[in-house]
Amino acid sequence: DPRIDGIKTKIRVVPDFPKKGIMFQDITTLLLDPKAFKDTIDLFVERYRHMNISVVAEARGFIFGTPIALAIGAKFVPLRKPKKLPGEIIFEEYELEYGSDRLEMHVEAVDSGDRALVVDDLIATGGTLCAAMNLLRRVGADVVECACVIELPELNGRERLEGKPLYVLVEYR
Ligand code: 5GP
Repeated sequence: DPRIDGIKTKIRVVPDFPKKGIMFQDITTLLLDPKAFKDTIDLFVERYRHMNISVVAEARGFIFGTPIALAIGAKFVPLRKPKKLPGEIIFEEYELEYGSDRLEMHVEAVDSGDRALVVDDLIATGGTLCAAMNLLRRVGADVVECACVIELPELNGRERLEGKPLYVLVEYR
């Protein structure tokens, strides 16, 4: 798709951030370009609008998942860091490329039988998506697919997804 190249050029690569040896993929520069940002959302919406997705979930940041959910007519469920959600929650601990953290989800937000799409800006080790999928599965949702703007394939994050399909727009090697 010709839109992919435009998206790729708007992602800024920042060496040695947040620590030495990490090539940080900065998507904030993509958000500054309304055309490239819209193309990003459109590509996901075109893929998911006819897949009967009933819930879109995204961990920690909600930039990509919320417009996708609105466009495809699904509910949006934020997966948040501790102490942000006031209702009854379940949680999963997970490892980041740097450090570890915990994701929490409102139990009543997702119903057994919901068809879930898990969205994130980037997959590195796959720990975040794995934790997100576990939260959804624990309440009985069917995780249909994971979707990311960027994949770092050399970190083999896909292997953590246990065969669940992963759709990505841009690979960075
Ligand atoms: P993983 O859990 O797959 O190891 O790491 C992915 C998570 O860490 C995502 O939620 C993502 O936002 C964040 N992350 C890790 N590396 C990068 C990066 O280079 N750029 C951005 N934007 N996020 C990153």
